[in-house]
Amino acid sequence: MTRRPETSRDPVCGMVVNVAASPYSTMWQGLEFHFCSAQCQERFIATPALYTVPGGVRNSVPIVKRRKLHFVAPTQEALRAVCGRLLGMMGVAAAIPGPDDITVEYDLRQATFAQVEAVVAGASLVSRGGLHRWRRSLWKFIESNEIENEAHPASGACCNRPPARLG
Ligand SMILES: [Zn+2]
Repeated sequence: MTRRPETSRDPVCGMVVNVAASPYSTMWQGLEFHFCSAQCQERFIATPALYTVPGGVRNSVPIVKRRKLHFVAPTQEALRAVCGRLLGMMGVAAAIPGPDDITVEYDLRQATFAQVEAVVAGASLVSRGGLHRWRRSLWKFIESNEIENEAHPASGACCNRPPARLG
């Protein structure tokens, strides 16, 4: 009989997790992974291949993203409050309020722009529309492609290959 290990490394953020105390665990390819938070578990379930190698946890370098979010007539208090919430997320390294904006820096392996935007959407700030709205959609699209390419490097190369000739 094998005993369950007492601690385990969170494959998303690298934190050491107390297995008995963590409510966040997932089975993947016959192995059990434990997470520090719902956010890390969510990232893992979305793309397990980004965090694993056959038989264990993958060691990867951070994929740092820096985005500037613009708002319509925000108060400084509201901007600071949202920065505080963003800094509470896993993988967010910086959240800096500007005159009508927030610059946020995060590791795409741990947090996506979609998750950042969900935290911002819970606040009283109104995001700027127009081109900025379009740019935010583009960031989400680009990030999901980037995550897929990072998780499956071999299959990602097909995007650079010329299309097969028909007939
Ligand atoms: Zn974690």
